[in-house]
Amino acid sequence: MRRTNSAEATKHLAATLAPYVHPGDVIVLEGDLGAGKTQFTQGFAAALGVASAVTSPTFNILLTYPEGRLPLYHLDLYRLDEAEQLEDIGYYELIDGDSDGVAFVEWAEKFPESLPCDYLEVAIYRDPADEGARQIRAHSFGPRSRQLLCVWAKDSKSRLQ
Ligand code: ADP
Ligand code: MG
Repeated sequence: MRRTNSAEATKHLAATLAPYVHPGDVIVLEGDLGAGKTQFTQGFAAALGVASAVTSPTFNILLTYPEGRLPLYHLDLYRLDEAEQLEDIGYYELIDGDSDGVAFVEWAEKFPESLPCDYLEVAIYRDPADEGARQIRAHSFGPRSRQLLCVWAKDSKSRLQ
């Protein structure tokens, strides 16, 4: 678990994950509106080599950034009404482990029956006592994300527990 004291610190933590991801990895971001899920994705994207601005995909559902070390698929399911629409946006191909890139998914918990089989969950919590502070926890669900979490946690800059 890590505490960050600014959006920049959250981006910096996310950047430390970028060297370790492989094609097919899935990161599920947990946290309320305004927790910092998109900030986290922005920090990761920049470290992956995405030069263009990463914006919230809330209205687009899926935004693709092909120009980094791996393609980045940024999904936000907040405005998706029906689980059937997941198929239309190609969700299952992006999270089945065989994708050519890495998927970051906000609000995946809206469709619990459609969660990936294997994913790294990054949960971001506000601190009621401090507007700029966040608690960030990572949990692996499945062997592949377990491996990713282990190598990330060994990174001295991330200091994840
Ligand atoms: P989400 O995608 O979870 O809805 P965003 O990442 O879009 O949230 O927005 C998070 C907001 O919280 C931003 O305005 C950001 O500047 C602010 N913020 C303040 N402190 C932090 C922090 N420690 N980590 C991340 N964001 C923070
Ligand atoms: Mg967001």
